[in-house]
Amino acid sequence: MQDRGAIRFEGATKRFDGVTALDRLDLTVEPGERLVLLGPSGCGKSTALRLVAGLEELTDGELYIDGRPASRWAPGERDVAMVFQNYAIYPHLDVFENIAFGLRLRRVPEAEIRQRVGRVTELLGLDKLLRRKPRELSGGQRQRVALGRALVRDARILLMDEPLSNLDAQLRVRFRTELIELHRRWGATMLYVTHDQVEALTLGDRVAVLREGRLQQVDTPERIYWRPVNTFVATFVGTPPMNLVPVRIRGTHVQLGDHSLRLPERRAAFLARYRREEWLLGVRPESVFVERANEPRPGAGERAALRVPGRVHLCEFLGGQVVVHVEVGTNLRLQALVPSDRRVAEGEAVSVLVPEEQLYFFVPETGTAVY
Ligand code: ATP
Repeated sequence: MQDRGAIRFEGATKRFDGVTALDRLDLTVEPGERLVLLGPSGCGKSTALRLVAGLEELTDGELYIDGRPASRWAPGERDVAMVFQNYAIYPHLDVFENIAFGLRLRRVPEAEIRQRVGRVTELLGLDKLLRRKPRELSGGQRQRVALGRALVRDARILLMDEPLSNLDAQLRVRFRTELIELHRRWGATMLYVTHDQVEALTLGDRVAVLREGRLQQVDTPERIYWRPVNTFVATFVGTPPMNLVPVRIRGTHVQLGDHSLRLPERRAAFLARYRREEWLLGVRPESVFVERANEPRPGAGERAALRVPGRVHLCEFLGGQVVVHVEVGTNLRLQALVPSDRRVAEGEAVSVLVPEEQLYFFVPETGTAVY
């Protein structure tokens, strides 16, 4: 069946008394795709997942699984596997029995249990730990057991709700890579929930950004990052977040605080079509070049559309990079992400330079981006 493993939300709405957790969600997950639902706490991510699992009922709209209306299917009929944040593994059972548990309940023959558990534990690197109890395992190994319990069911849809949030930073990074490799070999449709934008960008074939129950954008990680549809997506994804400053534009003339700058004709003509002067100007911190007053960057001036004088307010050392906060006016700051070896001193007079093609423009009232 061509649609096997496909999930489609159509006008999917879920209300709890007074709260609209999910508001007319339209979203298709392709068979075999890794789709990540991303958004802040309370935006409705888990609700969307629970609707697919059959743990919640839709208030309105429809949900399709394998191309068929599924909202009335019982959870057991859906053949989806789920891994939660607080994964449940049985403390009194060893690794093998924890993973075999569901199969035993369904009276799967012993030989098949051995074969299926064997395949999963080998895939997850648990094959040498089969007789260990959970208390004899590390956090990461326990997480793998929980994943094993979901995988062994061989479901065509795998739902994951912040499965890495209990792991330390290093393990999370390792597990992320493992999950991608695992998915390549396993091939199930994966719907993955997280509030962590790095996790979303690294794991997703596509990322769906939710805010207060509403879908903001669904796109490839690259487009979510470089072509955000609004200020919410632009600032939720990216660390430090995109700089947003109010500007007034008349023709090619841009007023930013006390500074007056010039836009190239083409960009100015494009913006003029909107017949408005007030804009929010957006710049990613890595697009901002910090030039020291006494050593201008050779050639940088020619490419930059914007050059704004300012003063370094604060530097945050991140290791390989430094976040430089530059004050460019009263209550007007820009953050720049620069290599550590180009460090500047706090209090130093600098200019910030931004290439014209790396500027974003948003309508202030709605936050909508224009391209
Ligand atoms: P988190 O990242 O914190 O888990 P989330 O994005 O997964 O958040 P949901 O758990 O889907 O968000 O919740 C969405 C909204 O619906 C929230 O306002 C939440 O309080 C509400 N909600 C969720 N489940 C219920 C419930 N069983 N009863 C009442 N309200 C609920």
